[in-house]
Amino acid sequence: QVRLRFAPSPTGLLHVGNIRTALFAWAFARHFGGKLVLRIEDTDTARNTPEGMQFTLDSLRWLNIDWDEGPEVGGAYGPYRQSERMDIYTDVVAKLLAAGKAYHCYCSQEELDQRREAARSAGQHSGYDGHCRALTPEQVQAYIDEGRRPVVRLRMPDRPITFDDLVRGEITFLPENLGDYVLVRANGHPLYPLVNPVDDALMEITHVLRGEDLLSSTPRQIALYEALAEIGIGTGRTPRFGHLPFVMGEGNKKLSKRDPSSSLGEYMERGFLPEGLLNYLALLGWSIGDDRDVFTMDEMIKAFDIRRVNANAARFDPKKCEAINASHMRLLAPAEFAERVVPYLAKAGVLPAEPTAEQRALLDAAVPLVQERMNTLSESVDMLGFLFVDESAFSIDPDAGAKVLTGDAGVVLEATSKALEEVSEWTTEAIEQALRASLIDGLGLKPKNAFGPVRVAISGRRISPPLFESLELLGRDRSLSRIASARA
Ligand code: GLU
Repeated sequence: QVRLRFAPSPTGLLHVGNIRTALFAWAFARHFGGKLVLRIEDTDTARNTPEGMQFTLDSLRWLNIDWDEGPEVGGAYGPYRQSERMDIYTDVVAKLLAAGKAYHCYCSQEELDQRREAARSAGQHSGYDGHCRALTPEQVQAYIDEGRRPVVRLRMPDRPITFDDLVRGEITFLPENLGDYVLVRANGHPLYPLVNPVDDALMEITHVLRGEDLLSSTPRQIALYEALAEIGIGTGRTPRFGHLPFVMGEGNKKLSKRDPSSSLGEYMERGFLPEGLLNYLALLGWSIGDDRDVFTMDEMIKAFDIRRVNANAARFDPKKCEAINASHMRLLAPAEFAERVVPYLAKAGVLPAEPTAEQRALLDAAVPLVQERMNTLSESVDMLGFLFVDESAFSIDPDAGAKVLTGDAGVVLEATSKALEEVSEWTTEAIEQALRASLIDGLGLKPKNAFGPVRVAISGRRISPPLFESLELLGRDRSLSRIASARA
């Protein structure tokens, strides 16, 4: 059985690169009917917050990326928060030390810096030089008497480390580039390069998908894995690694966490559909293979093959992201679409969180007019607000008013009022017929000049759902009263 994990550090930001990693691990696990473990890597106490953890969980829930083990669901390999696993790390380190796989290093920072500098000027490799690898008991005692507190280093093997990356193929790291590295700080704090592989081993992770930025840590982690296996910790099988390509933003620079187009909160706020956002993120390095850009998550799971992930950096294109989302908006059943816009309308104060039956009926009637025209759910506020807003709160966007309600607009609106008053049956067809007869045939106006002012008068905006349908939905009384106020 395959077991993957998503291992975010809950710093309070989930960025599109992290989400893509979660998505690929999830799709991989689901494709093979395996397990996805959610592990919270919160040992870096300075950077992690409880809110950060909650935000991470809420975000994954919002995205519909579900996990089989981890916070909120439990599992046989817990606890799943590293801050609750400190005893485990202490125990593992003691075993590594006892077996000689790791050792105490007493070198001070100044000593390390000095020797590194000397090595560098002699043209040698400047990693840790192994100074404390084989101290005698007397030397150790002398350091202790000096009051030095040691770090713990892993004893790296003196041979190349090769692995077959699931995305990049075979990669080899030479030993001269892999100095013995620190597992535990002098203050006893276990570090990421220790806790991450220890947990992967104990949680029996079979495949690790993660960002390319972590590629250089992989040979060290593999060495630790092998050391753990030799002392009987974990399954003894090193997981397969797949390093996902960088995501580049504007100007071909790595998309940074601070870039607004990278933070998940932004997409939630703008009303992306989770399936639309995930579909786009899937395209950052992967494709479904039949020239299709738009697919469902079920289709992705079925087709997912890590071997088809492209190792080249992917470019994040906000426009394409929006277009893919728009395609998913079109795919929703109208009732579902209505359901999904309600929270956005409610947040903007356009509707109550629980609309009345009457409001709901109006919304259902309006959805077919806007579903094809919206790229994100939050656009519903601008598109549909005018239908629900109280007459006393209705206002015309000043910019739209200044641009459109000028010149002949008064004449147009006067003719519109007259024509609409005479419409006997308040239907889209009858409204259209009456307005065309009066404004186009009667006044000889071009459609833009004829209907522009009417649109602004009734919707308050220059962009709205189709005009005649909008008038029908708004009803005769409200339409006429808004036209009258616009004329005043
Ligand atoms: N906590 C690490 C991060 O967020 C996880 C690295 C990994 O997946 O191995 O970068």
